[in-house]
Amino acid sequence: MNVVTRNPDIACQSADSRPGDFQPLRERGQHEVFCGLTSIMWLHRKMQDAFFLIVGSRTCAHLMQSAAGVMIFAEPRFATAIIGERDLAGMADMNDELDKVVERLLARRPDIKMLVLVGSCPSEVIKLDLSRAASRLDRLHQPRHRVMAYSGSGIETTFTQGEDNFLAELVTRMPAEKPGAAPSLIVVGAMADVVEDQMTRIFHGMGIENVAFLPSRSSESLPAIGPNTAFLMAQPWVNATALAMQKRGARRIAAPYPLGEEGTTAWLKAAAEEFRVDASRFDAITAPGRERARLAVERYREALAGKRIFLFPDSQLEPALARFLHRELGCEIIEAGTPYMHREHVAEELAQLPASATLSEGQDVELQIDRVHESNPDLIVCGMGLGNPFEAEGRSTKWSIELVFSPIHGYEQAGDLAELFARPLARRGLLKVGT
Ligand code: SF4
Repeated sequence: MNVVTRNPDIACQSADSRPGDFQPLRERGQHEVFCGLTSIMWLHRKMQDAFFLIVGSRTCAHLMQSAAGVMIFAEPRFATAIIGERDLAGMADMNDELDKVVERLLARRPDIKMLVLVGSCPSEVIKLDLSRAASRLDRLHQPRHRVMAYSGSGIETTFTQGEDNFLAELVTRMPAEKPGAAPSLIVVGAMADVVEDQMTRIFHGMGIENVAFLPSRSSESLPAIGPNTAFLMAQPWVNATALAMQKRGARRIAAPYPLGEEGTTAWLKAAAEEFRVDASRFDAITAPGRERARLAVERYREALAGKRIFLFPDSQLEPALARFLHRELGCEIIEAGTPYMHREHVAEELAQLPASATLSEGQDVELQIDRVHESNPDLIVCGMGLGNPFEAEGRSTKWSIELVFSPIHGYEQAGDLAELFARPLARRGLLKVGT
């Protein structure tokens, strides 16, 4: 990894250190990421009998409304209970107000099986205890409706941590495995339904029948957990969830993330080894997918090989994306930033990153922008707020949030993932031709 000396707080790695031993560039300055509420955008689509009630301000409501504009065509499965000025001034009993809102909501929407109260910056600032409120409301409304709570606040969290908080809370509600239960596998972290279906077919093909996904598609089908459960992380941000699962006796299967042909194969292989799948069976089941993924990625290699990429910290997917870009598309990684890094959970990714790449954790956005200007990358992967100013400077950008919203995991999506990076470069090329 590169040695960077601009910030005195930085711990550096020399160019010849072994992967795994290095210290990332750590920055604790101004950071620009969405808050944890944003994860409701994909969570409400995954768990289809849940309703997410944000307890927040008008700002929170505006964020959700603009992020989910398409929802105007459907009965929404999230809303914001707005904390008014009277509540902020302590003039109203917030718990009474909340109980009334929940009462009205559940009367109007009897289809809601799981009501999820989501904490925000304002609810945390006024110290509204949503966990207690959820327990009270749960007692009141069960068995027809269950009520739970988690924090999606933007105070010190990044947007993908909203999902992690939600899943960690769900783990406490998962039933215990029956004594002597058959070994089971849980895949942790929301992926598109179509990807889950593809993965299920591959696991079944390998003879791993007892497979479940977290979040489950229904709040009433949470998988059982215990010492005979092994789990695979599908997303690098489910760190608190992994800890909660380990506390309940489950074992984490160490693996890189299933991005690209290599990542997907290594991820499936880790599960195959855990479940003692015969090597020839593994090869036979994965070979067609590997070939399709390799050919699909190959189409974009010419456009991307040798391109210099700078990834800003946003979703925590960045180390895995950098590995895919470097190994499967021949890109040069200038910097891969991540808002937060759990060393153990990304160890397999870090080991495959080139020594020339700077890996940074946290953010000091001004210093990072300076590094972009100094290194002049071909493509910048960054948040929406930084994308437009960089485009105005004539640089190519990719909004990192697109990588969270798009199906990118697994063999069948490997080509689409490569295309997401190739598209902005092609567009910039067309703009140049047109000028
Ligand atoms: S939770 Fe905090 S950061 Fe997120 S929209 Fe509400 S006020 Fe803003």
